[in-house]
Amino acid sequence: MYDPTPDQRVILDALRNFLRTRVAPGAAERDQTGEFPLDLARELGEMGVMGAQTPEAYGGSELDTATFAMIIEEIAAVDGSLCLTVASHNSLCQGHILVAGTEEQKRRFLPDLASARKLGAWGLTEPASGSDSGGLATRAVQQDDGSWVLNGSKNFITQGSVGGTYVILARTDPARPGRSKNDGISAFVFNRDEVQGFSIGRKEDKLGLRSSDTAQLIFEDMRLPEDALLGTRGQAFKDVMKVLDGGRIGIGAMGLGLGRAAFEFAARYASEREQFGQPIAMNQGIGFKLADMDTQLEAARLLIRKAADLKDAGRDFTVAAARAKLFASEVGVRACDEAIQILGGYGYVKEYPVERFWRDNRLTRIGEGTSEVQRLIISRAIIAKHKQDVVGA
Ligand SMILES: Cc1cc2nc3c(=O)[nH]c(=O)nc-3n(C[C@H](O)[C@H](O)[C@H](O)COP(=O)(O)OP(=O)(O)OC[C@H]3O[C@@H](n4cnc5c(N)ncnc54)[C@H](O)[C@@H]3O)c2cc1C
Repeated sequence: MYDPTPDQRVILDALRNFLRTRVAPGAAERDQTGEFPLDLARELGEMGVMGAQTPEAYGGSELDTATFAMIIEEIAAVDGSLCLTVASHNSLCQGHILVAGTEEQKRRFLPDLASARKLGAWGLTEPASGSDSGGLATRAVQQDDGSWVLNGSKNFITQGSVGGTYVILARTDPARPGRSKNDGISAFVFNRDEVQGFSIGRKEDKLGLRSSDTAQLIFEDMRLPEDALLGTRGQAFKDVMKVLDGGRIGIGAMGLGLGRAAFEFAARYASEREQFGQPIAMNQGIGFKLADMDTQLEAARLLIRKAADLKDAGRDFTVAAARAKLFASEVGVRACDEAIQILGGYGYVKEYPVERFWRDNRLTRIGEGTSEVQRLIISRAIIAKHKQDVVGA
């Protein structure tokens, strides 16, 4: 019952074929050069992967979240960098437009994103506000003619320097005493080639995901039209939380895919590599590692599936997504670490891909809410529930 449906199988078979023939051959080299694979992103656009969950009415494939998670797992298992591109382009940029956009905004921005004619970026994080994202300082001031002027900067933005369409969070109204500082934050959407006062700052030199594009964005008196406002003025933080809930299912699936790739490589290696006259897998110390990796990855897949199904059923999935992201990223990274151990010295050198899988996967414990932030979400829900139980008793 957990097997892919016939429709999912068709999608996954085509994707695996593309990954094997077009993506896998250059993945290690792109990791070395850091070159962003615009051609691959465009080809994935033609395949319907870049608008995976966007409704067909706006040029997307309108897939459910379980199928999207399977797609992300498959891409991650071959190229983590490309996977982050696909995940953020879909879940963050398009995700926010889908959550908060007007019909006009959806018609204007989504077709170019779903086809990957334009790549999408989503800017929340700033130099002084990461986990505490409500503390952002980028300011948007409305002018007498209704237009907006933005000043500030964003850090670590995926597709930052290669994006065509940007969703940016900025403070439009000052924090008021007695109100959450999350109040007063608004979102804006715009095409890069239609604005002035927008520039790209530092491009990050990263541990992993080296051919994913990560850059700083700078806004200096950037003027946007009145209708660039995405969602209700001052109330965007609620939309941000919804967007991140969805995004976390994708990042969990990415952690799973990279962990699976490392596990599969290590299992093959351990069955072939001989020491002391037998395959190293015959030692329980190695066999048990493989058993734990396999079991933990399967458990992660089920948590992701549950969060995906709740989302598609229109039910609350915040905690389910936090659990899925927390667990899948942690066991995924652990699987990569164990794979390096199983390969010994060969795990540590670039001739084999497992060190790349570990470097790439390390981000999944940080991006779209660190593991600690996921634990905050889960523990707050536990405490709220138990408080209710006590009050209700
Ligand atoms: C490759 C990459 C791509 C990214 N892409 C994007 C993007 O496209 N768009 C975007 O907006 N952002 C993006 N980010 C930013 C990312 O979401 C943040 O890095 C992340 O949310 C953590 O913020 P920070 O780095 O400022 O760490 P901090 O918030 O400073 O956290 C530092 C440490 O303190 C811990 N910590 C903080 N608060 C608490 C607490 N209350 N309790 C316990 N521990 C706590 C954290 O868990 C972490 O371990 C990206 C980052 C990277 C590295």
